[in-house]
Amino acid sequence: MSLHFLQPETLADALTLLGRDPDSSKLIAGGTAVVLILQHKLIAPETLISLSRIPGLNTIRLADDGLHLGPLALLHEVAASALVREHYPALACASEEVGNVRIRNQATLGGNLAEADYASDPPAMLLALNASVVAATAERARTIPLSEFFLGFYTTALEADEIITEVLVPPPPPRPRMAYLKYKSRSSEDRPCLGVAAVANFADGVCTDLRVAVGAACETPRRLPEIEALGMGQPLADELIDEIAEGYARGIETLDDLRGSAWYRTQMIRVHVRRALKEVRDGRR
Ligand SMILES: Cc1cc2nc3c(=O)[nH]c(=O)nc-3n(C[C@H](O)[C@H](O)[C@H](O)COP(=O)(O)OP(=O)(O)OC[C@H]3O[C@@H](n4cnc5c(N)ncnc54)[C@H](O)[C@@H]3O)c2cc1C
Repeated sequence: MSLHFLQPETLADALTLLGRDPDSSKLIAGGTAVVLILQHKLIAPETLISLSRIPGLNTIRLADDGLHLGPLALLHEVAASALVREHYPALACASEEVGNVRIRNQATLGGNLAEADYASDPPAMLLALNASVVAATAERARTIPLSEFFLGFYTTALEADEIITEVLVPPPPPRPRMAYLKYKSRSSEDRPCLGVAAVANFADGVCTDLRVAVGAACETPRRLPEIEALGMGQPLADELIDEIAEGYARGIETLDDLRGSAWYRTQMIRVHVRRALKEVRDGRR
């Protein structure tokens, strides 16, 4: 059967085309994931709907309600954005850590989130930043917090007829303290064996907000609110940081893959949560 390739030039047209036959259609943005799974015959859509000719879907802007990232923003554009680098430096870092420069110049942020590959970098960082996605159909739009977006391996809360039209990040704290640490176990361009994102706020040396997300350790990026709460209202002394790192190491059921065994990942969580918390406490990023 032949594969139809459609290139709508407006979002409205893309939504209409997708809505006509969502189960036999596949969206394609940068194509870095879709082309591979097509080549391996893991999917067999009748129609590919390209988003790449739709203008305005790659904008990055800061407004009173936070950062608005277009789904077609390339990971290179997110990493290089002066707005992102100034207000959300660890998001720039997480984007810059993806693959290599050829991938970052082709891969989009929306595609990265929609693909929901567990071994990814931006999802953990965006989860720690309390980000959400706007998902639209031809009839309606809804906002999905990232905490409810990733459901399992390559599975998200997106319906078959929905397109991510925006990624929203709440306004940055006045003095951003955030870090993203990517641990690669095989090569410098590899996907993460583990990624740890931390975001914190301090007043008079006391932690007033703490969010830690661990990516690539299990099916979906994970935060552990009951462990994060240990840091609230406290100065982040070394002993408390050790306790939080231990809580994350014990609290996440890690997986085995070619990048590391479940046991090894657990050890790496302990090490990297500790390092990330010391970075945000000491203001190194
Ligand atoms: C060699 C290599 C190395 C990589 N290394 C890393 C790494 O280190 N870290 C990392 O995080 N990632 C890594 N990746 C993954 C890469 O970041 C993703 O493949 C990429 O971001 C997907 O974006 P895309 O625009 O190419 O998506 P596409 O391949 O076009 O689409 C991916 C999926 O998203 C869907 N989709 C795309 N846009 C939308 C939208 N707006 N709304 C709804 N659904 C949509 C598509 O239908 C498809 O299911 C690597 C990939 C490769 C090939």
